[in-house]
Amino acid sequence: MAGPTALVSALREELATVLGLMPDEQQQVFGGRTFWRGHLHGHDVVAVLSGIGKVAAATTATALIERFGVQRIVFTGVAGGLAPGVRVGDVVVARQFLQHDMDASPIFPRHEVPGYGRSTFDADAALTDQLVRASDMVLKDLPALLGDEVMRTFDLQSPRCHLGLLLSGDRFVSTTAESAALREDLPTALAVEMEGAAFAQVCHDYGVPLAVVRTISDRADDAAHVDFPRFLHEVASRYSGAIVEALLRG
Ligand code: SAH
Repeated sequence: MAGPTALVSALREELATVLGLMPDEQQQVFGGRTFWRGHLHGHDVVAVLSGIGKVAAATTATALIERFGVQRIVFTGVAGGLAPGVRVGDVVVARQFLQHDMDASPIFPRHEVPGYGRSTFDADAALTDQLVRASDMVLKDLPALLGDEVMRTFDLQSPRCHLGLLLSGDRFVSTTAESAALREDLPTALAVEMEGAAFAQVCHDYGVPLAVVRTISDRADDAAHVDFPRFLHEVASRYSGAIVEALLRG
């Protein structure tokens, strides 16, 4: 393979899990970000924290491609569930991405990215298939990964993996009214987060394969379902570490 695989997360806890699996990582600071070069299960990898939001995501993606010559990008993180069957503890793998806050109407149709003639960007089909298989494997054996107490605490009953449309925007969606509006506007959307679609646009520009997996941390509504930091630490970061390992083991 030509260049390294990029492993990206938005949140510190998730990257920490991945870095813990890399025996020989070396830091490089570039564009205000720390990149860790190293190896994981025999793969040449570069790990980085994107930060939160579309601009941070786009500059991170560009640096990974221009500076490190990555040949594929895998993003793991958390998201708010939108579709009715997408529950806390489930996993969403993106097949397509859309910027739900893109609106240059009436010059362009709502959600269309000006200059591209389209509102959605695709994930790489082959890499996404591999990510779905890795996620399914991890979900099948979840009690072994998390322990019964964590399964009970977070009420994780047979979590599922969903494949479909992922929304991104520069907004943490945390009211029932806002998530209802998104569901009405974009009924096929599975979940909402703040980075994926920006990565997808940059990867489209450069022709670099991208796959994104998100653990559902909340339902993007008023109800605080759990202690978010605890969910992140005890559930989401363990999911992402295990999914990345399963993916790279092949
Ligand atoms: N405690 C964290 C909160 C970040 S939550 C902190 O202080 O850093 C926002 C991150 O989680 C974003 O990176 C976004 O991609 C994702 N996310 C999870 N739930 C979301 C929601 N309901 N709406 C938008 N983004 C969400």
